[in-house]
Amino acid sequence: MAVESAVETLRNYVNGEWIDAAAGETREVRNPATGEVIGRVPMGGAADVDRAVRAAAEAYEAWRRVPPVERARYLFNLKFLLEERAEELARVVTLENGKTFHESRGSVRRGIECVEVASGAPSLLMGMAIEDVAAGIDCESIRQPLGVFACIAPFNFPAMVPLWFYPFAVVCGNTFVCKPSEQVPLSQRFLFELVHEAGFPPGVLNLVNGGREAADAILRHPQVCGVSFVGSSPVAKHVYETAAAHGKRVQALGGAKNFLVVMPDADMDKALDSITESAYGCAGERCLAGTVVLAVGESHGAVREGLAKRARALKVGDGAKEGVEMGPVISEPHRRRVLGYIEKGIEEGADLVVDGRENPADPAGYFLGPTLFDRVTPDMVIAQEEIFGPVLGIAQAESLDSALEIIHAHPLANASSIFTTSGRHAREFKYRIEASMTAVNLGVAAPMSFFGFGGAKGSFFGDLKAHGREAFDFFTDKKIVISRWS
Ligand code: NAD
Repeated sequence: MAVESAVETLRNYVNGEWIDAAAGETREVRNPATGEVIGRVPMGGAADVDRAVRAAAEAYEAWRRVPPVERARYLFNLKFLLEERAEELARVVTLENGKTFHESRGSVRRGIECVEVASGAPSLLMGMAIEDVAAGIDCESIRQPLGVFACIAPFNFPAMVPLWFYPFAVVCGNTFVCKPSEQVPLSQRFLFELVHEAGFPPGVLNLVNGGREAADAILRHPQVCGVSFVGSSPVAKHVYETAAAHGKRVQALGGAKNFLVVMPDADMDKALDSITESAYGCAGERCLAGTVVLAVGESHGAVREGLAKRARALKVGDGAKEGVEMGPVISEPHRRRVLGYIEKGIEEGADLVVDGRENPADPAGYFLGPTLFDRVTPDMVIAQEEIFGPVLGIAQAESLDSALEIIHAHPLANASSIFTTSGRHAREFKYRIEASMTAVNLGVAAPMSFFGFGGAKGSFFGDLKAHGREAFDFFTDKKIVISRWS
C-alpha cells in the first residue's frame, strides 16, 4: 500500500496550472529496464482535451499580439532552462523509454536545437512585398498565426519529438496543446515545468495526458486549427484523414522500413560501424533505424561476418548504467511482438546468424539481444513490416539498380543510406532514391532542426514537414494584402 501511494499520478498542465485530469482511468508507466512502476498516467478524453483547447483559444488573441521578438524571448528563457537541466531531462528519458543515457542526451540536444532555430522567428517570419503590381497598387504577403495547434507524439523520443513542433508553433503566435505518448509521459511533465518557469503566459502552452481517446478528441475539436502527428503509419493515415475531414491543417509523420545499401567499393569497417549503430541504437526503436542491409555483389561475405561480430559484441543492459550500449525495448507486449518477428523470420527460412531471443540482461526488464538474419528476401515479412526492435536483416542485390528496385517496391520511404567510395554510385543513389531522408556513408539520415524532417510515400501524410523553414509555413497563413491609395 505504501509503495502504491508513492507512485505519482500525473496531472495536466492547463492555463498555466497543474490540474487533475477529468478522466478517472489511469495507466501504469514502467521503467522498461526493470519493469518497475514509475508513475500513473491519466487516460484523458474529450473533457480534458476540451479544457486545454479552450484555455489555448482564450490565450490566443493576446498572444498573437505579442511582438515576435518578445515571443522569441520566452524561447530564450526555455533554452537556458533546458541547458541547465539537460542532464536531468536525459535521465528522465532513459528512465521511461529505456534508451541509453548517451542516446537520451543526444535526443535532448536535438530538442534544444529546435528551440534555438525557432528563436530566429523575427527573421524567419518576414513576409514579402512588391510595389506597383499595377499602376499605384502595392502588394504584400504577411505571415500570420492561425489559432490553436496540437501535437500527438510517439513513445520513442519522449522529449525531442514534441519539441519539433511547439517552439515553432508558439513563436509564430499560435497557442498549443501537447499530447505525449501515454507510454512515456514523464519527459513532457519535466519539460512543462520548465515551460512554466520560462514564464509563458497562461494558456499559450498546455499539456494533456492520454492515449487514443485524447488524440481523437484533438482531431475532432472545432477550435483546433492544425495537428502535428508522429507515430506508426496506420495511425498517421487515420490522423491525416480525420483531421482533414474536420477542416484542419495536418502533418502526419508515419512509420519506416529503412534500407541500407552497401556497395562492394565501400569503406567496409566504417560502413559496418555505422550500420550497427543504425540498426541497434535506441534498441532499433527509431524511425531512422536501418532494418534491411542490401549487400551488393561481392560485399555480402564481409557484411555478414562484420555485422555478426559487431552485433555479438554489443553490451545490453539498463541504459542508465555506464558502459551499456543498448537498452531494452519499451514494453513487454512490444518485446513479445518483436520476438514474434524473429520467429517469423526463422519460419520463412531466413538464416538466423545472431539470436537475440535469450534475455541477456535483467529478466524483469524488456530486453532483447541484437538479432541478425542473413538470406532475407524482399518478400519476407521481416523485410516488409516495420519491426521497431533490434532486428537487422541482410539481403543480397546484384547491382545498385536491383537494390533500388527492391527499395522502391516497398510502400514506406522514410530514410535510406548508401555506403560507397564511388561518387558516381553516391550521385546515382541520391538522384533516384524515393526516401526523402537520404544518407551517403552515414547510417542515420537525421536532418538537423534547420532542415525539414519527414519521409515520403506511406511514411508521410501531408506536404509540409516537421521543423526547419517548413515549420514557419505550417504554422502561419500567408495573407496577401493588395493596396491602392489614390
Ligand atoms: P503509435 O502510432 O502507436 O502512437 C503514436 C501516438 O498516437 C500516441 O500518442 C498514441 O497515444 C496515439 N494513438 C495510438 N493509436 C491511435 C489511434 N488509433 N487513434 C488516434 N491516436 C492514436 O506509435 P508509437 O508506437 O508510439 O511510435 C512508434 C512509431 O512512430 C513507429 O512506427 C515509428 O516509425 C514512428 N515514428 C516516426 C517518426 C517519423 O519521423 N516519421 C519519428 C518517430 C517515430
